[in-house]
Amino acid sequence: MPTDSPGGRAPPGPAAARPAGSAKIGAMTAARVLLLLPPNRLAPPARPPLHAPLFTALMAAALREAGHAPIVVDLHLHPRPSPAALDAVVAQADPDQIIVLHSDYNRQVAPETIAEVVARLKAGRPARPVVLGGRLSLDIARAALREATAADGALVGEPEASAVAFVSGQPAGLLRQPDGPAPAAPLPVDPPVPAWDLVQLSAYGYAPHQSTAEPVVPVLASRGCPHPCFWCEVRDQGAYARRPVEQVLAELRLLMLRDGVRSVFFADPTFGVDPRWTTELLEGMAGLPPLRWSAMVRPDHVHGAMLRRFRAAGCWSVLYGVESLNPAAQRAAGKGLSAAVVGEAIGAAKAAGLEVIASALVGLPGDDPAGFRATVEQLVNMGPDFAQFFTIRVPPHRALPAGARRAGALEGGRHDFTGQVVLSDGFRDSAELEALRRWAFRRFYLRPAYVGGLLHRKLRAPDAAHQLARLARGGLLAARMSLPGMAP
Ligand code: SF4
Repeated sequence: MPTDSPGGRAPPGPAAARPAGSAKIGAMTAARVLLLLPPNRLAPPARPPLHAPLFTALMAAALREAGHAPIVVDLHLHPRPSPAALDAVVAQADPDQIIVLHSDYNRQVAPETIAEVVARLKAGRPARPVVLGGRLSLDIARAALREATAADGALVGEPEASAVAFVSGQPAGLLRQPDGPAPAAPLPVDPPVPAWDLVQLSAYGYAPHQSTAEPVVPVLASRGCPHPCFWCEVRDQGAYARRPVEQVLAELRLLMLRDGVRSVFFADPTFGVDPRWTTELLEGMAGLPPLRWSAMVRPDHVHGAMLRRFRAAGCWSVLYGVESLNPAAQRAAGKGLSAAVVGEAIGAAKAAGLEVIASALVGLPGDDPAGFRATVEQLVNMGPDFAQFFTIRVPPHRALPAGARRAGALEGGRHDFTGQVVLSDGFRDSAELEALRRWAFRRFYLRPAYVGGLLHRKLRAPDAAHQLARLARGGLLAARMSLPGMAP
């Protein structure tokens, strides 16, 4: 589950009037639609994004099924994103309508960059409709329009349904003004298989724990999350929704039989919330050709028998969002995990033959340096294969719980977010958070017995060459995460 938090840098400004002569929306029978992903800022140096634009690929597939011609441009991939580069890609695409992705899966863009991009697009051709898209809740759509005052509206709700409605000229799903009435929900669209052919999938990175020797394709079996963690990007998206099992199986079957996919990553913020649904899905997957997959899971959603079913259905890796083993921090964050539950889940996954990654946060309310250090020591003893540690970053609109405040902006580092660092009362300043985070990486990874055991296991794996390559990549990442002066 997402444990690196999204964000932005400036608080939303006051509601601004729509520009006079807003564009006429939609009403085309077959439209060229540019789905434009802005970078975090329109200036080099650009960092290549880590996460493939899953919501964009879904919107593109739905638009194509509806008879339109979607074009996907991720300006974040451009070696030198700039206003001139933006002009050039738009001139080349020559679209009838433009959807600017306000956010995407595990990706949020600085509000001022979205505003700058939209203003430039509208200045270039005022009559061409430009709206914001993503999987936006109504509140987030309102906040987004207060920032990007030149936009003709924002699409609310499930991205593929609102995109098809917008391009087809239906008002449902489109919020036109920040303080305008909530739009009606668009007619639902069966989630299509994302249009990965329109996305340069190989340009995106996966964390070492998600990568396999063969190409990995993200699949969403559910969207959102029913849990309330304040830092999580899913707070900005719609409600939790899981897909019918048959629909997920059909997508997997198509990916495997049509595209030869052998490895997927369930990109659900938290996979397997409902045990009955999960069991049904896993049983269905047993009837498919062999598939390797990994997922992000809450430790309290799984147990030994379920994890053995994961393994039997092709799972090789689970990432547990642990966050903290300090009971006070767990209480303050509303996460509700205990050390006993986490320890049991790690042991059960390892016993089932799965690789385990534990993810923890530094700076939670209720925590302090001693509590964070104790969490890391406990995790070391629980023996996950890998661990990751993040400071908490949130966008400007996000409400913080008692005992937490904002400690200023932080560039997105190697992650696809910008945001404001959350500093809780138990910590001195953001420099202390960074020092603790780097210490945690060193404490976890610089253990000769751990490194020796890992190498021993991976060298005996059937795909030893790939495993060594993963370890080398992961080692570089851990070094960057732990050394002072290196971008996280
Ligand atoms: S449990 Fe849900 S809300 Fe909490 S971090 Fe995980 S995905 Fe996000």
